[in-house]
Amino acid sequence: MNNKTTLEFLEKVDFLKNLPGLDTLATNCKEEFLPQKAFLFKEGDIGEAMYIITSGSLEVFKENRVIANRTSGEYIGEMALLGNQIRSASARATTDVQAIEIRKEYFLSFLSTNPMAFLPLFQTLTSRWKEDLKNINSDNLELKNQIKLNQRFSLLLDDTVNEIFILNPDTYQIIQANLKSSQNLGYTREELSNTTFNETFQDLSQGELSEKLQNLVKKKQAQVSFENQHKRKDGSNFPVEVRIQYSEIEDPPLIYAIVEDISDRKAMENHIKHLAFYDSLTELPNRNLIKDRLNIMLAQATRTNTKVAILFMGLDNFKNVNDSLGHEAGDQFLVQVANRFEKPLRKEDTFGRLGGDEFIILFPALKNENFVAKLAQRVLDIMDQPLELKGKQFHSTFSVGVAIFPQDGKDIETLFKNSSIAMYQAKESGGNAYRLYESSMHDKIMSRLTLEQDLRKALKNKEFELHYQPKVSMRTGEIEGLEALIRWNHPDGKEISPAVFIPIAEESQIINKIGEWTFIEACRQIREWQQKYDSAVKIGVNLSGRQFDQPNLVEKINSIIKSEGIDAKYLEIEVTETAIMSNIKEAIEALKQFRELGIHISVDDFGSGYTSLGYLTKLPINTLKIDQSFISGCTDSSNIAIIQGIIAISQKMGFQTIAEGVETREQLNLLKSLGCDQFQGYLFSKPLPAREIVHLIWPAQKASIQAPPF
Ligand code: C2E
Ligand code: MG
Ligand code: MG
Repeated sequence: MNNKTTLEFLEKVDFLKNLPGLDTLATNCKEEFLPQKAFLFKEGDIGEAMYIITSGSLEVFKENRVIANRTSGEYIGEMALLGNQIRSASARATTDVQAIEIRKEYFLSFLSTNPMAFLPLFQTLTSRWKEDLKNINSDNLELKNQIKLNQRFSLLLDDTVNEIFILNPDTYQIIQANLKSSQNLGYTREELSNTTFNETFQDLSQGELSEKLQNLVKKKQAQVSFENQHKRKDGSNFPVEVRIQYSEIEDPPLIYAIVEDISDRKAMENHIKHLAFYDSLTELPNRNLIKDRLNIMLAQATRTNTKVAILFMGLDNFKNVNDSLGHEAGDQFLVQVANRFEKPLRKEDTFGRLGGDEFIILFPALKNENFVAKLAQRVLDIMDQPLELKGKQFHSTFSVGVAIFPQDGKDIETLFKNSSIAMYQAKESGGNAYRLYESSMHDKIMSRLTLEQDLRKALKNKEFELHYQPKVSMRTGEIEGLEALIRWNHPDGKEISPAVFIPIAEESQIINKIGEWTFIEACRQIREWQQKYDSAVKIGVNLSGRQFDQPNLVEKINSIIKSEGIDAKYLEIEVTETAIMSNIKEAIEALKQFRELGIHISVDDFGSGYTSLGYLTKLPINTLKIDQSFISGCTDSSNIAIIQGIIAISQKMGFQTIAEGVETREQLNLLKSLGCDQFQGYLFSKPLPAREIVHLIWPAQKASIQAPPF
C-alpha cells in the first residue's frame, strides 16, 4: 500500500483527519494482514498499537459476547495509544483483514510535533468512551434483567406442583431439579444432582430409559411420556406420569423431564374401576367382573384341556326376610351371606353377586367332575347355621344349579342360562338342593315357554272349559256340592293338566285373567242350572295364591256374583294352605271379606303345607280338605294318625272335613269311621263336563247313568 492510500485512510479517522503532518505519520505506518478467525489482540494483552481497517471486518468480544463489529474505514484499539493500556476486549477477524497499524511510539512522536492534536483526540476518545459506557450499561441492564428473569423463572419452577428435572442426555445425570422434586422424593437438591434420573424410579433401568427416549433423540417424537412408580429416598413409591422433551437449543443439548404425581388420579381410577366391577353392597365381584373372569377361565380351560364349573346360587327364602324385616335388614342379610363364602374358596375361584339374591361361584381348573357335587353340597352346608339379624335367628338356604364348561355350554351366555335353569330346577324341588344341568332341562324350559305363549292365546280362543267333581256326604251319600276344575282344550289336542299350566299361569300373571274367567263361568253355571232345574248346587272354585296380589279381588268377585244374580252362598272358594300361608296378611283380609259376602271358604290340600295352627283361629274357614296324599297312603298308620288329627282339630274348631282323592271303598270306610264329613274322588266320579255332571245331580234327566256306589 502506498503512502497516498495510507494517508487517505488516516484522514478517515475522526481525531486525525484535520491535523497537519499526517503524511509524516503515514510514512511510519505499517500494513498488517490478518487471516479469517485470527486474533488481532486478546483481552488482557498489553496494547502497543491501534489499527485502521482497510478491508474485511473484525468483531470485538468480551467473554464470548460480541460487543462490536468494525469494518473497512473504521479503527480499533485506539486506547493503546495512551499509556500501557491493557486490552479490555478481544478482536478477531471475521473475514481476511487488511489493516494499517499505527504504533504507539510513532503516534507519540507525531503528537509531540502536533500538540493541537490532543483536543480532537480527547474529544473523540471521550465520545467513544461515552458510547462504550452506554453499551456497557445497557449490557449490564440486560444482564440484570436476565438474572431477574432467571430468578423469577426458578421461583415459578419451584412453585409448580410437578417435579422438573434437567438431565444430561447421555448419562441421565440430574443437572438441575426444582424444589418440588426434592420435596417429593425426600432428597436434598445436592443429593439429587448426584443421582441419575432412572434411579428415582422403581422399575426403570438406564437401558429401558434409553429405549423410551430413542424416538425423542431421533426426532421422531417431540415428547415422550410414560407412567411408572417414583421411588422416594426412604424406598416408598407413588405413581407418576413422566413427560420428557429433548432440547437442542442448548449446546450441548439437554433433556427436560416433568414428573407429575398421579396418586389422586390413580385412586380415582381405581375407585371407578371398583364401582364398575364390584357390587356396592357386598363388595363382591359384580356381573361385569364375573363375566371378565369367566372369559379368562374359559380361555385357560381350552388351552389346558380342563373344565370350569359354574355354580348359580339363588337364596330360597329371601323374599320372606325382605318382607318381614324390611329392605335394610334384607341388605344386611345379603352381606352376611356373602361373608360366609369368603374363606371356603380357593384364591383362583370367584365368588360374586349377580344381583338380588343371586350369587355365583366360578370354579376353574376342574379335573374331576364328581368334585362338583361335593362343592355344591358344601355350598348348602355352609348355610346350615342360622344367620343372626336384629337379635333374631334366620335360617336361609340356597338352591344351586351347576353347569360345566365345555359340555353344558361353550360360551358365557349359554353357561349362565343353563346353570340358572338347573338352579330353578333345584328351587322347584323345594330348595336347599343342587341340580346339575342336563340338556333335557333345556327342552323342558323351551316347552314351558311355548306353553306360556299358548296360554296367552287360550282365553281369547275360548279353549278353557270347567269340569265338575261331586263332593259327596259320607252320611247320606248325596251330592252336596261340586268342585270346578279347569280343563284346557289345547288346539294341538294335547292333554295338559292344570297342575302343569296353572303354575305357569301364576308365574306370568295370566292367572288373574284365567281366575276371573273361572269365577264368571262357575257363577254362570250356577245360574243356568238354577233356572233350568229350579234348584241350585254349590260350586267350589279354586283360587290361586297369586290372585291375592290383586288389590280389588273381592270387589271383582262380588261384582261377578251380582251381575250373574246368584246367591253367594252357592259359591265356595278353595284356596290351598300354602297359598294362604305365603300371603298371610292379604289372605286373612280377603277371606274375611269373602266370608262376609256369604261365600264358603275351604282350605285345599290341608296337611301338605305348613300351617301355623295359631292362624287357623284367625281364618274364617268353613271346611278343611284333607290332602290326597294322606288318603292314598291311608294304609300307613302315621297317615291315619294325621287324618285323625285333622278331623279332631276341625271338629274342635267347628270346621267341616272333606277327603280328597278317594279311590277305594276301603279308603271310604276308614274315613267314614274316623268321622270325616264328605269325600271327593274317582270312587264316586271323575271330574265331568257340565252336560254330564247334571245326570249325577238330577238323575231323572238320564236313566242310563251308571249308578253311584250307594
Ligand atoms: P285340587 O284343587 O286339589 O283338585 C283336586 C285334584 O285331584 C284335581 O286334579 C282332580 O281331578 C284330582 N282328583 C279328584 N279325584 C281324584 C282321585 O280319586 N284320585 C286322584 N289321583 N286324583 C283325583 P286336577 O283337575 O288335575 O287339578 C289339579 C290342581 O290344579 C287342583 O288341585 C287345583 O289346585 C288346580 N286347579 C284346577 N282347576 C283350577 C282353577 O280353575 N283355578 C285354579 N287356580 N287352580 C285350579
Ligand atoms: Mg281344589
Ligand atoms: Mg286338593
